[in-house]
Amino acid sequence: MILSFFPLLLPLTVFIFGSIVGSFLNVCIARMPKDESVVSPPSHCPVCKTPIPFYDNIPLISYLHLRGRCRSCREKISPRYFVVEFLMAVLAVLLFSRIGLGLAFFVNFVLVAALIIITFIDLDVRIVPDVISLPGIAVGLVVSIVNSQWLMVQSLLLPTPLSSALGILLGGGVLLLVAWSYQFFTGIEGMGGGDIKLLAMIGAFLGWPSIPVALFFASLIGSIVGVAFMLKKGVDSKYALPFAPFLCFGALVYLFFGELLIALYQPLG
Ligand SMILES: [Zn+2]
Repeated sequence: MILSFFPLLLPLTVFIFGSIVGSFLNVCIARMPKDESVVSPPSHCPVCKTPIPFYDNIPLISYLHLRGRCRSCREKISPRYFVVEFLMAVLAVLLFSRIGLGLAFFVNFVLVAALIIITFIDLDVRIVPDVISLPGIAVGLVVSIVNSQWLMVQSLLLPTPLSSALGILLGGGVLLLVAWSYQFFTGIEGMGGGDIKLLAMIGAFLGWPSIPVALFFASLIGSIVGVAFMLKKGVDSKYALPFAPFLCFGALVYLFFGELLIALYQPLG
């Protein structure tokens, strides 16, 4: 009985751990754009400001139990809180099932958390927060150096320092070039500097081969969603979709299907 239960124990623990971290990511998403501290004051209802007791702050469960409403003022709580907790929990389990528990798991768990924060802040207020992407670039590079010097864990998801550095240059460089030429030919500023730093961060964590993959899938899904959006709302070329969520999606594609895709251009590197 215990043995048959045991295989589920670890993924379940990872799921719960992911949802708890997701709960913290929600705090970051709500507070970082306002330059507020993510540790104090403790969680409170954004409408009535009532502090949220611990039993109403249980990831996933509290949202369902309270049916998405504040206990004191009954105002609706954004479903984003549930979505972020669920997303982080599910991606943590997928990451665990892909590479097990080890250095590669924890490093890429941090990357996934950063991608989720950036995605939802960009959707919310149209900013890719430097406070995530810039330290992210440094963390990705430093981890690759520490790993190659001392830990020596072999994993596709832990690039060499050279690959990480090239990832930063390629990720930052390609989009900078796109942004410049787009602005040059159209006179419109289409791509923000935030997207450039985000792709550099992705390159730092995942190495240079992740850049073409992330860009390709970001553009592909971005175009599909963009066309669908235009069909629904009518053509309005002035409205630009936020690009960061698509770049984050592209990074996840590489994270989970990297070696399948990398085989396609292995001869290059
Ligand atoms: Zn309230």
